[in-house]
Amino acid sequence: RKGTVIITGASSGLGLATAKALAETGEWHVIMACRNFLKAEKAAKSVGITKESYSVMHLDLASLESVRQFADTFRRSGRPLDALVCNAAVYLPTAKEPTYTAEGFELSVGTNHLGHFLLARLLLDDLKQSDYPYKRLIIVGSITGNTNTLAGNVPPKANLGDLRGLAGGLNGIQSSAMIDGGDFDGAKAYKDRKVCNMLTMQEFHRRYNEETGITFASLYPGCIATTGLFREHIPLFRLLFPPFQKYITKGYVSEEEAGGRLAQVVSDPSLTKSGVYWSWNKNSESFENQLSKEASDAEKARKLWEVSEKLVGLA
Ligand code: NDP
Repeated sequence: RKGTVIITGASSGLGLATAKALAETGEWHVIMACRNFLKAEKAAKSVGITKESYSVMHLDLASLESVRQFADTFRRSGRPLDALVCNAAVYLPTAKEPTYTAEGFELSVGTNHLGHFLLARLLLDDLKQSDYPYKRLIIVGSITGNTNTLAGNVPPKANLGDLRGLAGGLNGIQSSAMIDGGDFDGAKAYKDRKVCNMLTMQEFHRRYNEETGITFASLYPGCIATTGLFREHIPLFRLLFPPFQKYITKGYVSEEEAGGRLAQVVSDPSLTKSGVYWSWNKNSESFENQLSKEASDAEKARKLWEVSEKLVGLA
């Protein structure tokens, strides 16, 4: 049978390119989990994904209610779940003030971390039950949250501190809207939540890999300077960023290539190792990359897990 993969945020950029790459193999049915149904349908058609190889299901990660409904709807579809890709993200680098999710969490951490955390937890049982040869849960990471890299050292740097803002609910009222309890900074919030994504992947690995046989992985697909992720950035940045990445840092990858890399992590039989953060070298070969000290801090991963459980109503 075909495998079934859910990809969040498959309506543009990396998610769409990955959906296309997997659909084209003929071995996958792709569930595009998107907040904008029409946009997702149009996007699938525009890149030529054939009708029988995808379905669009509504998911707004900025609402925990929507996450729960999505998990129910998916279950009612009767499909098995063989791979889950947590890809969607918002990036608000120029925001002066925080904005919030339906439940009142700062938007980028709420969407990118808490929404995906609940989704992955709810669908873990479905993955467990799959009889597919490999079952995988993948969370898209980023170099920017890794302070052991050059890109990760561009201020403001990621830092979750002692998680006091998160523990306080990130609501900007009783607690800060930032995880570490500091003043709001949209660019830092994006990096912080990438650290959350990488810590979450490792905690999943520690808790569930042996028991379930599920592969938990994260990756940095390269700098895809052309995606919608930078839509909120100032125009000059959007003009200069792609050539800067292409010619100066040489970290640039096309959406198609990045999609191929993520598709590899979903389906390549040689990438079944769990707990790994994948990256690609100049020859486009995958390798196990090192995470920064904070992004591999086991104690912080456990604490993040416990605080997140409370916030999304699982504990
Ligand atoms: P895009 O902005 O093109 O894609 C982001 C996707 O997330 C869109 O489909 C968007 O939906 C979706 N999304 C945003 N908010 C929600 C929500 N509340 N509910 C459901 N879906 C939502 O950016 P990229 O493709 O670049 O980003 C994809 C991933 O890749 C992210 O995790 C990003 O951090 C990561 N990444 C990107 C890099 C880059 O250089 N671009 C480098 C490393 C990692 P909609 O279409 O409706 O807006």
